[in-house]
Amino acid sequence: MQRRMQARARRNLFPGRMLSNPQKIDAVAARKKSNEHVPGNCLCGAVELEIDFPAFWAWHDHSSASRRAHGAAYATYIGVWRKHFRVTKGRKRITRFEDKTGAARSFCARCGTPLIYEWKRSPHMINIPRALFTTRTGREPRYHLNIEERQDWAYTGERLVPLKGYPGVVWERPKTKKRRRDIENSSL
Ligand SMILES: [Zn+2]
Repeated sequence: MQRRMQARARRNLFPGRMLSNPQKIDAVAARKKSNEHVPGNCLCGAVELEIDFPAFWAWHDHSSASRRAHGAAYATYIGVWRKHFRVTKGRKRITRFEDKTGAARSFCARCGTPLIYEWKRSPHMINIPRALFTTRTGREPRYHLNIEERQDWAYTGERLVPLKGYPGVVWERPKTKKRRRDIENSSL
């Protein structure tokens, strides 16, 4: 049983291996040349990298490990074949952390930006935070991994309104007493 769960966890980390029919490139992406490079960089600019367009696939990872590693509600990645990925500047600035599961995360030693996420069992695949790229990567993140670990404080598109007296701040209105009572009763 435990072995089956571990196998499932491994697949969940890199389901790119299972995609027999990779997501098709959208119409705009398809018009771009396949030899085009997409540049990305860390927050401080010490590290620059690039991938060949298009990426292989893209997804949101809601696992607690990625949440902590990014300091964010969840992490969005693109996956590319290793041969389609290059560090173009600041290789010496990259620091690497490998956890007990064999997952390795690399980040900029100067500014802390997460840069690369690798898994021993998928040595030919490199995973990079989508946020490092400002232009199109050729894949939309339509997949969600570890969705059962999503936090109830993660923003999921609730209606937001301006906060009076605080220009530039919007917020989600608290639920009314009646509505909150309805919700509490419905969960009984
Ligand atoms: Zn940096």
